[in-house]
Amino acid sequence: MPTVITHAAVAVAGGIAFGPRDVPHHFWPLAILCATLADADVMGFSFDIPYHHFLGHRGFFHSPFFGLLLSLFLMGVFFREVELLSAKWFFYFIFFFFIAASHGILDALTDGGLGIALLSPFTNERYFFPWTPIKVSPISVQAFLSKWGWSVFKSELLWIWLPSFTILVLARIIRFVAVRN
Ligand SMILES: [Zn+2]
Repeated sequence: MPTVITHAAVAVAGGIAFGPRDVPHHFWPLAILCATLADADVMGFSFDIPYHHFLGHRGFFHSPFFGLLLSLFLMGVFFREVELLSAKWFFYFIFFFFIAASHGILDALTDGGLGIALLSPFTNERYFFPWTPIKVSPISVQAFLSKWGWSVFKSELLWIWLPSFTILVLARIIRFVAVRN
């Protein structure tokens, strides 16, 4: 995985870049939840769920399908006041889905561990993209505080933070120009 902080940064950058100005307060914690929840599956190791299992780390909870269910759930619980199937409803629904799906996709760009079950629950096959520039983050905190952790963070800065920030700035410029004209 890229680190939890980096997944969360993608959610925040996406929200600033594309979100409406009047997002409710609970939008931000929910966006960060969507980006990071998948890694709760590491708890499976404590319950002897093997890495390659359907519910193992990088399994079903890392799939875009789970992202879809999560997004629907959040809409049903936290956005009931938004008119169903309105443009606003679709924005939040698609945003949460994309942010949740971004987790598995970013993980599939990392260079270690088992692949990601991107097509789960239809197949438990694990995938990486052919190009994996992001250094995989260690699961243990102790290992993260080592030289390994630093090289992970550097690769995340380059391959995730920098593109996210660039997209954020471009999106804001385009919106600023669009509003003025
Ligand atoms: Zn992950």
